Amino acid sequence: MTPAREAALAELQARLPPGRVLAGDAEALEPWGRDESELGSFPPEVVVKVESEAEIQAVFEVATRHRVPVVPVGARSGKSGGSLAIQGGIALSTERLNRILEINPEDLVARVEPGVILATFQAEVEKHGLFYPPDPNSLELCTLGGNVAENAGGPRALKYGVTREYVLGLRAVLPTGEVIRTGHRSIKGVAGYDLTALLVGSEGTLAVVTEIMVKLLPRPRHVATALVAFADVGAAARAVSRVLAQGVIPRCLELMDDVSLAAIARTSPGRFPTGAGALLLVETDGNDEEQVFAEIVRVADLVAADARGEVLVAQGEAQRREIWEVRRYLSVNLKAIHPMKLSEDIAVPRSKIPEMVARAKAIGLSVGLEVATYGHAGDGNLHCNVMYDRVEERPRVDEAVAAILRAAIELGGTITGEHGVGLAKRDFLELEQGREAVALQRRLKAVFDPLGLLNPGKIFPPA
Ligand SMILES: Cc1cc2nc3c(=O)[nH]c(=O)nc-3n(C[C@H](O)[C@H](O)[C@H](O)COP(=O)(O)OP(=O)(O)OC[C@H]3O[C@@H](n4cnc5c(N)ncnc54)[C@H](O)[C@@H]3O)c2cc1C
Repeated sequence: MTPAREAALAELQARLPPGRVLAGDAEALEPWGRDESELGSFPPEVVVKVESEAEIQAVFEVATRHRVPVVPVGARSGKSGGSLAIQGGIALSTERLNRILEINPEDLVARVEPGVILATFQAEVEKHGLFYPPDPNSLELCTLGGNVAENAGGPRALKYGVTREYVLGLRAVLPTGEVIRTGHRSIKGVAGYDLTALLVGSEGTLAVVTEIMVKLLPRPRHVATALVAFADVGAAARAVSRVLAQGVIPRCLELMDDVSLAAIARTSPGRFPTGAGALLLVETDGNDEEQVFAEIVRVADLVAADARGEVLVAQGEAQRREIWEVRRYLSVNLKAIHPMKLSEDIAVPRSKIPEMVARAKAIGLSVGLEVATYGHAGDGNLHCNVMYDRVEERPRVDEAVAAILRAAIELGGTITGEHGVGLAKRDFLELEQGREAVALQRRLKAVFDPLGLLNPGKIFPPA
């Protein structure tokens, strides 16, 4: 540690209660340097577990005086390296800011602190007969603060939208120490610039979010789930377009390609018709049981011409869970084939899904690696997983990833549909958005964080 950072640590230890400042123990700090991005280990020098806005202000005051970087950290389930302390410094953990402050059925809003785990929040909301739709597959781990920072999506985004659609307002501490309140408790509200929208998806680079006010919905009482096999991804993609063009909006339309299917078949042998090369998981929901079932039957009819074999419609909750396990354990099953993988989360216009899947496979072949593609086909958000066995293969993996990101941009899509730019994709932002738009974003960052101390090195490559 530099003398300035030693001094900052001493001040933090003096200002915060014992046990809430962690430093000097490399083994204890190491896990704080990792997330789910597989980008390596970047431990902070200090971890501070804050419990209030006043403590966050104190952290910024000390960090500013000694010019020490500060990185907000939720549950470290991020996949773009957003919480990694790439310049060392202070990891500001929200794990103790974990209270659900209010669930109000009358206004259909809730207020939470950022460290609340998403699954815990959803379960509490459901006790009131209400529903908070955003559902990243990491919901048992991730925090609402991390969801807001990454504007997280999930399988249900097709029908219900992503985190941004639910955030009505925020409280946040700026690196300058100012506390701001953005948004409103009403559904409508257009006063001033939309600072809430700016902070959602800002990946912990503009402010530390301390309170989140979200919109809730009445909980849909019935859900129907089905699994359909297809000869190939093209047939599955055609089926997706046909369903959506008929005005049926399922809450999920999850696609799995042939490599994914082969991985699943290892643990579920004989489950899928021979010759199947892609799967679609479809889910509909609503309050009228008959209508929800009729809707999934309509989907089954619409995809039947392209399908291979029977459409499997879940009969009851146990079968629904079984179908979802196919999707939830996919990542684990893929790792049984190749122990390592880098998962990209590009998004393309729906019509380009077959071409994107084909391009990802061809890119894999060109560098001698297998690529499995699955994801939220209904909204064009695909996870292209470049799989490998040995760390020495990593340069080829990076080459394939770069080519996949370029292909997504060429097809009119984006380098990230839900995981964020973070450290992983910062070199590609300008390719997607152009020099001027990135320069403007850098200037915005400087307005919030004049000294560049909050989560430096993320989203934008070094100048
Ligand atoms: C198995 C698995 C499945 C996943 N599935 C999905 C999916 O379906 N959809 C999806 O969108 N993502 C998915 N993710 C990615 C990840 O879970 C999300 O990005 C999640 O929102 C990160 O939350 P976190 O609490 O872990 O944040 P972290 O990883 O700790 O941090 C993420 C970013 O948020 C910032 N941050 C955290 N808290 C705050 C705060 N209070 N104020 C300001 N900035 C803050 C951090 O600085 C960092 O930049 C998945 C991850 C895994 C491991």
